Amino acid sequence: MQRFQQYIDGVFEDGSARFDSLDPATGDVWASMPEAREEDVDRAVKAAEKALWSGAWPAMTATARGKLLYRLADLVQANAPTLAELETQDTGKIIRETSAQIAYVADYYRYYAGLTDKIEGATLAIDKADMDVWTRREPVGVVAAIVPWNSQLFLSAVKLGPALAAGCTVVVKASEDGPAPLLEFARLVHEAGFPNGVVNVITGFGPSCGSALTRHPGVAHIAFTGGPSTAAQVVRNSAESLATTSLELGGKSPFIVFADADLESAANAQVAGIFAATGQSCVAGSRLIIEASVKDRFLDLLKAKAEAIRIGSPLDMRTEVGPLCTLRQRDHIEKIVAASIEAGAKVVTGAKAVDGEGFYYLPTILDCDGVTSPSVEAELFGPVLSVMSFETEDQAVQLANDTRYGLASGVFTRNLARAHRMIRKIRAGIVWVNTYRAVSPIAPFGGYGQSGQGREGGMAAALDYTRTKTVWLRTSDDPIPDPFVMR
Ligand code: NDP
Repeated sequence: MQRFQQYIDGVFEDGSARFDSLDPATGDVWASMPEAREEDVDRAVKAAEKALWSGAWPAMTATARGKLLYRLADLVQANAPTLAELETQDTGKIIRETSAQIAYVADYYRYYAGLTDKIEGATLAIDKADMDVWTRREPVGVVAAIVPWNSQLFLSAVKLGPALAAGCTVVVKASEDGPAPLLEFARLVHEAGFPNGVVNVITGFGPSCGSALTRHPGVAHIAFTGGPSTAAQVVRNSAESLATTSLELGGKSPFIVFADADLESAANAQVAGIFAATGQSCVAGSRLIIEASVKDRFLDLLKAKAEAIRIGSPLDMRTEVGPLCTLRQRDHIEKIVAASIEAGAKVVTGAKAVDGEGFYYLPTILDCDGVTSPSVEAELFGPVLSVMSFETEDQAVQLANDTRYGLASGVFTRNLARAHRMIRKIRAGIVWVNTYRAVSPIAPFGGYGQSGQGREGGMAAALDYTRTKTVWLRTSDDPIPDPFVMR
């Protein structure tokens, strides 16, 4: 059995307690993990506070910080096969996806490495003749980075990259489900040569570890990815410290197909949108909104593709859909699918767990036309697609926006003017036109409504990890005039 350690103040240690991690493909225990409790969290935050104000990190030039981030990116790339295998082993995410995604994680660190010396203040054309006034961008402070189980390396890179570029120090809390890749990543941080305490990596349970971290008075900013109800708890926890928050939450993203679209291409994109990553993706295009005249043709195409998907061991490069990360997750999906069928949704394909060991669930399509189906409203975070049809463009918009979420969306049409109208009317942080599930470190990412607030990716994300200091320098040698009048 493999044994992992937490990383606090540059030291690898066992943690206050231990817990077992299950292999989602078999349901068997495969590793022992360190459980951080309140005392560990406190030490991690204090180490990050110390590293923020003293020692090598605050004295380092932005260029030198950038070099450290470049080194980390190179190490992530060199160790991609090990990291990918650990993520697959611990979360069930297929090796085909983790291998590709981790190479891309290195690019995120490279992007932010290149931004470190481009975070600039400004000189102000101030309305007073005897003053020079400028602003400095300073690190916001200690950042708590909290990620869910899916894509822990990726979701932490979009927080750590800009936070370190801005000069912050970080405590990363890996999800208790599948923390192995992040705990291993800490070894690369160490090898890259970051000063002790700049990056600390812990894992543990939400109500104890996550809660202690988000209530800690030493934390200045909480960068959170997870579900909306946990996010509300995190915001409540931060009420005393007044830490700022950025929240990347769930979604119920519409995938809209017009009759004039390239249906074969749209069907492939829909497979990517709902069955890739076994549907455990915040941007999953889980609501297919299809023009009625092509509904039957499109569903035939999709059904054939869904039933041809290779389900198997996530460690096999040929596998396309692996297990869900936890049994709890599969139970949640089974419950909502059963309630949806009960409400009148028709099963096009799937709708059951795969017999045998592991937490597998069949790629599922539910026809929800004319039905109030729970699967249309709730985020399932699994390979389940709900289908609705429309006759007019206005109906398509109405269906697309009929959700409390607003993370991503897809529009498939060859009509340029219509594509532009849809882009304006859809309430979501991302609109993909004739494509789906494309990401880049250069492009902002984030949601409307219950999908969160703040944006990850791009230059703006690095600025979000800074605060502005305004400097006033008087250039006159004359004595200060009337001290009772504000100048
Ligand atoms: P949760 O909200 O349950 O957990 C997210 C993280 O918060 C985990 O590390 C969890 O720890 C931790 N946590 C739990 N309770 C607390 C607490 N009281 N205080 C502080 N931290 C806590 O999310 P899920 O695990 O269910 O993840 C799936 C969700 O994440 C989905 O809604 C999905 O859409 C969303 N997501 C959003 C993305 C985006 O970029 N918008 C990307 C990926 C996922 P632990 O796991 O140890 O309990």
